[in-house]
Amino acid sequence: MRAADQTRAEVAAAARRLADEGLLIGTAGNVSAPIPGTSLRAVTATGVVLGECGPEHVTVVDPDGSVVEGELAPTSELGLHLSLRDRGAVVHTHAPWSTTIACVLDSLPVLHYQQLTLGGEIAVAPYATFGTAELAANVTAALAGRQAALLANHGSVAVGADLGKAVDNALLLEWLCQLHHRSKALGEPRFLDAEQQRAVVEQAINLKYGGVRRVGEQ
Ligand SMILES: [Zn+2]
Repeated sequence: MRAADQTRAEVAAAARRLADEGLLIGTAGNVSAPIPGTSLRAVTATGVVLGECGPEHVTVVDPDGSVVEGELAPTSELGLHLSLRDRGAVVHTHAPWSTTIACVLDSLPVLHYQQLTLGGEIAVAPYATFGTAELAANVTAALAGRQAALLANHGSVAVGADLGKAVDNALLLEWLCQLHHRSKALGEPRFLDAEQQRAVVEQAINLKYGGVRRVGEQ
């Protein structure tokens, strides 16, 4: 299969999975990934019901955003995806818990050690109108050193070395935002301090945490 066809199919599959998980609702949200061996990017088209996304609903654009393949106009957040072209695959959602937190907080502190796989405290990018260069710049800055960011009064963005990682990061951020909300409903949450976070990173390195290991394997 051609690389472009393969990536279009993978972007569509990622969009359907995120819709199945409840992160992409109706036409809200978008997904993109670089096409290996090219400077091109496959990005979901505007107005597509993401739970029914197929390869024909994914458009191929060049680094300037010009359409080189596909029948449908790309997402209105194309500028955001292009501004993150060095970050691998990109997922943008209006997921319920992420958007809730993004309507209130200025950042998501580290409540659970799993958040460290996203890079630590998650920034909330200042509000700007959807589809603007200002929003793309705000989100790009919020993602510095992180695998995910929240967008004030809008939603979330997650990146990853491949689509699987970007989807996992979006799901983890959504879980963390729900965890924050539920914890806050019970009282004042405890957050992990810098020393606790450092110890988690050390332990993860010691135990090679995060991958499958056979019994007895070092
Ligand atoms: Zn949006």
